[in-house]
Amino acid sequence: KLENATAKAELGRASWKLFHTMMARFPEQPTADDSLALKTYIQLFARLYPCGDCAAHFQKLLKKYPPQTGGRNAAAGWACFVHNEVNKRLRKPEFDCNNIGDFYDCGCGEEGKDKDK
Ligand code: FAD
Repeated sequence: KLENATAKAELGRASWKLFHTMMARFPEQPTADDSLALKTYIQLFARLYPCGDCAAHFQKLLKKYPPQTGGRNAAAGWACFVHNEVNKRLRKPEFDCNNIGDFYDCGCGEEGKDKDK
């Protein structure tokens, strides 16, 4: 079957959205188990990503820049950095990682508090 660049890009946008939103919701002070869970998730995401070429490149990136899972800021900063590495390879503009703070909002409100927020 022919490659479909539109579908590939769509998958990429959806995946990055989930990826960065997950980092934005990762605990500021994770337990060792939280950090291990995120590290494992990232490794499996890289291994199972449906575009095989993308997955191969991304696994190389993870070897060079191991996932930072010590806390939310480190994880979000790391994810922004590696996405920029992918951007570079695809000749896309660099994203300013200082703006990552409020950019990814899961829309979940403050869970365990007021449900309407
Ligand atoms: P995307 O790169 O999809 O970004 C979506 C939005 O995220 C942007 O509009 C911007 O608002 C924001 N954003 C941009 N940069 C950052 C950043 N650094 N941090 C946080 N937010 C940011 N495509 C290929 O053709 N070849 C590949 O090898 C390839 N490898 C990929 C590997 C992975 C792991 C993933 C998830 C995707 C890969 N893709 C690859 C898809 C590619 O990265 C893009 O998702 C796709 O080309 C669509 O690009 P886009 O310009 O819409 O923006």
